[in-house]
Amino acid sequence: MLKTDMMTIRGNRADSKIIIAGPCSAETEMQTIKTARELSKIGIKIFRAGIWKPRTRPGNYEGAKSAGLPWLKRVKKETGMLVCTEVATPLHVFEALKYGIDMLWLGARTTANPFAVQEIADAIKGVDLPIFIKNPINPDLELWIGAVERIRSAGITQLAVIHRGFSTYRKYKYRNDPHWQLPLELKRRYPDLTILSDPSHISGRRSLISEVSQQAMDLDFDGLMIETHINPDEALSDARQQITPNRLREILESLIIRKPGESIKNHLTLEKLRSEIDQMDAELLELLGKRMSVSDKMGLYKKENNLTIFQPQRYSEIMSERSQEGLSKGLSSEFTEKLFKSIHEESIRHQETIMTKRSRSAKGSGRNK
Ligand code: PEP
Ligand code: MN
Repeated sequence: MLKTDMMTIRGNRADSKIIIAGPCSAETEMQTIKTARELSKIGIKIFRAGIWKPRTRPGNYEGAKSAGLPWLKRVKKETGMLVCTEVATPLHVFEALKYGIDMLWLGARTTANPFAVQEIADAIKGVDLPIFIKNPINPDLELWIGAVERIRSAGITQLAVIHRGFSTYRKYKYRNDPHWQLPLELKRRYPDLTILSDPSHISGRRSLISEVSQQAMDLDFDGLMIETHINPDEALSDARQQITPNRLREILESLIIRKPGESIKNHLTLEKLRSEIDQMDAELLELLGKRMSVSDKMGLYKKENNLTIFQPQRYSEIMSERSQEGLSKGLSSEFTEKLFKSIHEESIRHQETIMTKRSRSAKGSGRNK
């Protein structure tokens, strides 16, 4: 549990919540300090900035590294905000402590690795500062809990978790799927744990941040971590999801903070069900994509064997069989027929593309001979 009295902001609707804001990365001293000043003006009490950036692929901006730590120290001195950064190795922990960083967080890639978490836990032993643990990149609640246990065993009493969504192979709406049921299950099992949400890494784009922040508030999260930059378009990392301090102020002012209680319980159920529907829709699309690739193969076969694309008998068979099957699953024949008509049309469109493409290239290669 986090001692939150000093951490909540005052003077807007989210005033009972912990709001952490700051750039994805501290890029230069000026960018860091200017962003911090703007945030301090709107009442933010905790400043975040990545110093060592875990990048999925090498060659991207990897952070200012230790050279950026004095900038955070300056933020603290000039604005009075508490400062926090991500640590992924014992060396990061020692460096951060040397520069008086107030709080540390473990990133999603680190939480996914118990060896790394244990090394960090050993490095912070004896220093009781607030630690935030982001969820692992994969939707594995036990791994997340395991990281909490390791850090707690190091004697950390001010512990919080940050829900930043989970990686998926196919991206639909979100950069990282929220799978709200996981943080909610964590809350159910550990009611005293402080839970924040990170709408920036869930959304991956600015336009979704307000919506995801409100969802987290409706689910009674204790606060938000939101990436904020004085010039988001020029950011060296996560540019698409960073917002200006002014936009952050607007979002915080428009949040509706509900009283915990029945309405939240209903929301939990609703969110769980929505999440199940999202998952099933993803599976449906995956399957339709696979169906189309089989259809593509058929297109090729028909071309090679001089068969017509549309075979009326097969079409009527499919329609009547599917319609019967649909009825046995509670789906009206009208719906099933519409659905399969639409799938069939898409399939024909695919096969036509394949046939025309092949014949054009066959003509082209003839000309070159
Ligand atoms: C970050 O906070 O900038 C970051 C790298 O987050 P995550 O570990 O959630 O990807
Ligand atoms: Mn980021």
